[in-house]
Amino acid sequence: MSQRDVDHLLIGGGIASGNCARHLRRGGADGTITLVGREPDLPYDRPPLSKEYLQGSQERSDALLEDAGWYADNDIETLTGVTVTALDLGARTATLSNRDVLRFGQALIATGANVRRLPAPGAELTGIHYLRTFGNSDAIRQDASGKRVVLIGGSYIACEVAASLTTLGSTCTLVMQEALPLSRGFGSDAGRFFAETLGAHGITFSASDELEGFEGADGKVTHVITRSGARLEADAVIVGVGVNPDVSLARKAGLEVGRKGGVLVDAGLRTAADGVYAAGDVAEYVSVVNGGRRQRLEHWDVAFSQGRTVARNMLGQDVPHDAVPYFFSDLADWAAIEYVGPAEDWDREIVRGSLQEGSFTIFYLQGGVMQGALTVGRSDDLQVAVRLIAGSTDLGDRVAELGDLSSDLEQLG
Ligand SMILES: Cc1cc2nc3c(=O)[nH]c(=O)nc-3n(C[C@H](O)[C@H](O)[C@H](O)COP(=O)(O)OP(=O)(O)OC[C@H]3O[C@@H](n4cnc5c(N)ncnc54)[C@H](O)[C@@H]3O)c2cc1C
Repeated sequence: MSQRDVDHLLIGGGIASGNCARHLRRGGADGTITLVGREPDLPYDRPPLSKEYLQGSQERSDALLEDAGWYADNDIETLTGVTVTALDLGARTATLSNRDVLRFGQALIATGANVRRLPAPGAELTGIHYLRTFGNSDAIRQDASGKRVVLIGGSYIACEVAASLTTLGSTCTLVMQEALPLSRGFGSDAGRFFAETLGAHGITFSASDELEGFEGADGKVTHVITRSGARLEADAVIVGVGVNPDVSLARKAGLEVGRKGGVLVDAGLRTAADGVYAAGDVAEYVSVVNGGRRQRLEHWDVAFSQGRTVARNMLGQDVPHDAVPYFFSDLADWAAIEYVGPAEDWDREIVRGSLQEGSFTIFYLQGGVMQGALTVGRSDDLQVAVRLIAGSTDLGDRVAELGDLSSDLEQLG
């Protein structure tokens, strides 16, 4: 066991920590920086794991935020394959799984999230996969390519993986609680469009349904049984039913967890402990661009940009995290989805463009105030949506112009 001092301790080896390290150095930090991550890899992008990397068109190295040389050149210590097992906020120390103890000046908790597991009968069979890491994506490609695959979930992981596996020759069926894929966050009009897009490529649905259990032979899954009574043949199963923020370390250290399940931080991503921050999937923050609402989002761009906000605050700039949350998703090369928001409630959807032609934006409004916007093929529309959301602008009777292609959106916000 050794004990030593670190100026900036970044806990978690994901994109929030990685980008914080980059912006600390870019911002002129001259102290020591140590990044501790449980996984064997340096910080990497997870979005390709269900898309290009799963499809085999991207290498591991393409997904890395920075390569090992960059961390060395920038004098950033990376402890991969190492877990922070305890945080003492009074003594300002972190105990590592290799038994070292680091005394820190400032710390970032960016422990991310873990997949939510379904405790159904037969869950112990092989051939049932979850997806969070490079290794999971490798195993899915190996086990599910060209096979009959059942995916549990109707949100973006199940939809993206079904699309990617279809390009690898698999036959995919989604079992989902929703009547339409992706409709929980984006509504029924969008859901119908995504159902048609996926369906046009042979993906089928057991909709408004649920997993009941798995059947297998010789220890391997063979069938998925659903609550509606369907018995679906499955050579492999992928479960994509959401994640739980990994608050275990923070909670043990005495930090408060909020109603959205994340570590509570203020608008500048500060916890209640002096000089200790949280960012990314694990952070429940006060969003100055969403009317002061508490947000906890599992979006790549949020984790990435929050890493930068933490770096700036560690360097004494005292800035709020004021980016309007942005999300993207790809269904193979059939549809590229972009979204800003998030709209929690809305009473009106206005479509600009054409759902039939696959080039549209749906604006989600509460009264005359923009809450969110989803686009397929009309990215430019989001710039105006971002300004309207950030300004909480009430469009009043000009709302209809959003759907009128002859009106200039730029005039609205
Ligand atoms: C397959 C997949 C596809 C995705 N696609 C999209 C997409 O298209 N668009 C989008 O916006 N978002 C997408 N996301 C979500 C996005 O990847 C996450 O929001 C982002 O990875 C969050 O980054 P993070 O740094 O907060 O946490 P994570 O990426 O979860 O990283 C946290 C890391 O910390 C480690 N850790 C945890 N506890 C400790 C500890 N005590 N000590 C040391 N290390 C620890 C974890 O093992 C993990 O490696 C996708 C996610 C997945 C899994």
